[in-house]
Amino acid sequence: MKVISDPRKMQDFSRKLRRSGKVIGFVPTMGALHRGHLELVKTSRQKDEVTLASIYVNPLQFGPKEDFEKYPRMLVADLELLSKLKVDAVYTPSNKGMYPEGFSTEVKVTGPLVKGLCAPYRPGHFDGVATVVVKLLGATLPTRLYLGQKDAQQVAVLKRVVRDLDMEVEVVACPTVREKDGLAMSSRNLRLGQKGRAIAPVLYRGLCAGRKQALSRKRDARTVLAAVRRVIAREKEVKLQYLEVVEKDSLRPVKRVGPGAMIALAAHLENVRLIDNIIV
Ligand code: AMP
Repeated sequence: MKVISDPRKMQDFSRKLRRSGKVIGFVPTMGALHRGHLELVKTSRQKDEVTLASIYVNPLQFGPKEDFEKYPRMLVADLELLSKLKVDAVYTPSNKGMYPEGFSTEVKVTGPLVKGLCAPYRPGHFDGVATVVVKLLGATLPTRLYLGQKDAQQVAVLKRVVRDLDMEVEVVACPTVREKDGLAMSSRNLRLGQKGRAIAPVLYRGLCAGRKQALSRKRDARTVLAAVRRVIAREKEVKLQYLEVVEKDSLRPVKRVGPGAMIALAAHLENVRLIDNIIV
């Protein structure tokens, strides 16, 4: 497995593959890899001739009060996991390589996709994500881009970005991988203490209660969200940041919850921000 840090070298590597007609799958990550990431890699390994991954904690997508410094970093262990899955190359750019002196361009995302959910609480976050992903795609030149449905708003935004910017890449969204107790896998789970980790699955239990309500006769958004809230309220340490029900692709709020609706939330627990969602 090749490990490449220089953007030009990454591009040279990918260009040769593309020119020889290879189908390239690409899995961008911020490292601290878990089964959620590895499922994306495995899906690409099955579908594509070449699989590339990246590990880069992108400062542009973190707010000034967010956990950029505290974000878990474990490059050696990550590379070992990717190598075991026979990833062809891993792109590990430095901050200087990514944003050299004089860097002056940002991709700005506007419109309904960044009205609700995480966007109002993380100003600039999706611009930072869009900018780094456009750059990562420029360096890795993939045929397919693999993303996790756990970050549903990110999927919707990036699908929009590649369409809007006429980028030649197919976005593949993969299902959320969960721990046995239902907690959505996340690198941030590592930052939970023992107590927080034991409490955290309440988020998924809440979402499941919401989905159950949505499949019953009384399925207006208010009733569905109340069902979620009732479950989560049992754990006083969990502070809900938002809880919304939206149409899963357009992310527009829905009043009557039916198939294709997504219940999504963010919550703080032990100062760790967790997100999760469920499709009805
Ligand atoms: P991150 O390292 O958190 O930036 O995530 C890298 C990619 O892995 C993103 O496309 C995420 O949506 C995806 N991902 C993270 N956690 C999970 C999970 N539990 N299940 C599926 N995909 C995930």
